[in-house]
Amino acid sequence: MPKRKQKEIDICPNCGTKVDKPVKTWNLVSPLPDAEGRITITVMGSYVCPNCGYKWRGVVSKIKAGGSSVEIQGKNGTVKKIGDEKPEKRDEGEIIELDLSDLDEEE
Ligand SMILES: [Zn+2]
Repeated sequence: MPKRKQKEIDICPNCGTKVDKPVKTWNLVSPLPDAEGRITITVMGSYVCPNCGYKWRGVVSKIKAGGSSVEIQGKNGTVKKIGDEKPEKRDEGEIIELDLSDLDEEE
C-alpha cells in the first residue's frame, strides 16, 4: 500500500521513483485575493512514472502576486520573494498586471 502522506510531489506514490519533471503543468488562479490583497496562482503538475507508469497530479508550486512583491512557494515549502524584479516593467512601477481586460482604456 502506498503511503498516505506524500512529502514530495515528484516522487511516484506507487513505487517511489523520482520523476524529473511533470509531463504537463497548468495554472489555477484564485479569483479572490488573500488577506494581503494578493492573488494566488497555483501551479499544478501532471506526472507519469517512467518506472511503473503510474499517473498522478499535484501542486508543483504556488505563486502569490500583488502588492509590491511576488512570492513563489516551491515544492518543499520554500518561499522565494521577488521584490523589484519583474519580467515586464511598465511605466507604473508597482503594478503587476495579470490579464485584466476590464481596465479603462484611454486612447
Ligand atoms: Zn512508479
